[in-house]
Amino acid sequence: MIDSNPGNYSFDTAVVVIGGGGCGLAAALAAAQGGAEVLLLEKMPRPWSNTARSGGMIPAAGTRLQQAAGVVETAVHFAEDIWHKNGHTSDPDLTLHLAAVSKTLVEWLVDDVGVNLVFIDDFKYPGHTQFRMHAPPNRTGGALVADMRRAAENHPHIEIVTDAPAVGLIADGDAVVGVIVQHGAQTERIQCQKVILANNGFAGNPEMVRQYCPAMADALYFGGEGNTGEGILWGMELGAAVAFMDAYQAHANVATPHGILITYAVIMEGGVHVNRHGQRFADESTGYSEHALAVLQQPEGVAWAIYDERIHQLALSFDDYREALAAGAVHTAVSLPDLAAQLNIAAAGLADSVASYQQATRGEVGDLYGRSDCRSLTPPYYGVKVTGALFHTQGGLKVDRNGRVCKPDGAFVPNLYAGGGAAAGISGHGPGGYLSGNGLLTALGLGMLAGQHAAQSIKAREIGD
Ligand SMILES: Cc1cc2nc3c(=O)[nH]c(=O)nc-3n(C[C@H](O)[C@H](O)[C@H](O)COP(=O)(O)OP(=O)(O)OC[C@H]3O[C@@H](n4cnc5c(N)ncnc54)[C@H](O)[C@@H]3O)c2cc1C
Repeated sequence: MIDSNPGNYSFDTAVVVIGGGGCGLAAALAAAQGGAEVLLLEKMPRPWSNTARSGGMIPAAGTRLQQAAGVVETAVHFAEDIWHKNGHTSDPDLTLHLAAVSKTLVEWLVDDVGVNLVFIDDFKYPGHTQFRMHAPPNRTGGALVADMRRAAENHPHIEIVTDAPAVGLIADGDAVVGVIVQHGAQTERIQCQKVILANNGFAGNPEMVRQYCPAMADALYFGGEGNTGEGILWGMELGAAVAFMDAYQAHANVATPHGILITYAVIMEGGVHVNRHGQRFADESTGYSEHALAVLQQPEGVAWAIYDERIHQLALSFDDYREALAAGAVHTAVSLPDLAAQLNIAAAGLADSVASYQQATRGEVGDLYGRSDCRSLTPPYYGVKVTGALFHTQGGLKVDRNGRVCKPDGAFVPNLYAGGGAAAGISGHGPGGYLSGNGLLTALGLGMLAGQHAAQSIKAREIGD
């Protein structure tokens, strides 16, 4: 809702950040470090955002952590992987800028925010030609958010209010001049100079999902329930342009019925997906996002991830995987017929599928689905029943390099910024353009850039620049 009657404020501040996930925390910290007073509003009582649920994997090229691991690459190389995955459909300038800023982003998080990040060089996600992921040691977004939140709570210029949904923006003409917030039974009007929309996309809004991403309308939603798309709708009301509204990140490997993410490392290291008949049905390695649709098309919308001991040992470095193990989602057996019996899937089909895959690993035949990275599986075997899920949407408000929200003619909506899922992403259209890490790169990267720009322009206005 846009209120076009400015005035009648309860109080004022310099910057209001809407949303307390990765984008919001990065924006708040960058703006506060730039000297601005910041109020961060979080809708939920507990900020159980997508960032907090994520694997915390942040891609970046040229960081000192990457260099220390002996990996040398440029931002252009990283951007090329992003473009390759999205078929060169993303905004070239924004994509290259985010790839270039990724080094600063990761080093800022480590040095100035105090986030504990390590370099991940034991597996690559689909589409990455180089090791470039940085993550908390336990590979959870929960740890990332905890470190960022601690820094924000300790910053004297940041106030965080939870259980406080923004319910509208206040505009003077097309310029944003305030925010309306609901706190308990109270509605308050806050005057501010800049608003940063960090309230993600619309994956938690079934109506908008049905409208823009119909293939996911009936899929499990695995992200934060607060992400219902109002930031994008407010921007549209103010005349902002939107792009890639059909883009989303899905995932093919969520343990069912447990609802626990099984790292895609189990597939990328050589595991396969089979259906109830024990049959493979697609090249699993193209990407977990687009492969989710193939899983959902199988009988009952489920598949089973099949892998071996080597892969199981690697997966144990993920907190989520250990949780799945403890919950009884992971089955193991010394032979394929025993595994099939445990998983209640067709033993003959599983035996045939694995035999044909093993032949491809030895180069005796081409893989049935054209997979090029087949790796031999040896007993004991492991299996998890999985389904496809919607993680977040990637379409939203068009922004420039600093996260400023743009209109169709290229002019800015004055005082309004967006990042993360609220902004149009760099994943092209549909589910297949998503390269792992695009989510946190656009959330943390645009959050940091928007926060910095907001603080600088407030300062420039104060000194009459
Ligand atoms: C299980 C899972 C694993 C993932 N793993 C990775 C990964 O390893 N690497 C990667 O790059 N990406 C990953 N992603 C994607 C990534 O998590 C998201 O792209 C990213 O976290 C989006 O950040 P955000 O700040 O835009 O949104 P969020 O982190 O979801 O934060 C938005 C916040 O805004 C709040 N909010 C919404 N509306 C309002 C309102 N009106 N007022 C106030 N607050 C509001 C919400 O409650 C929420 O807390 C994963 C996603 C999922 C679901």
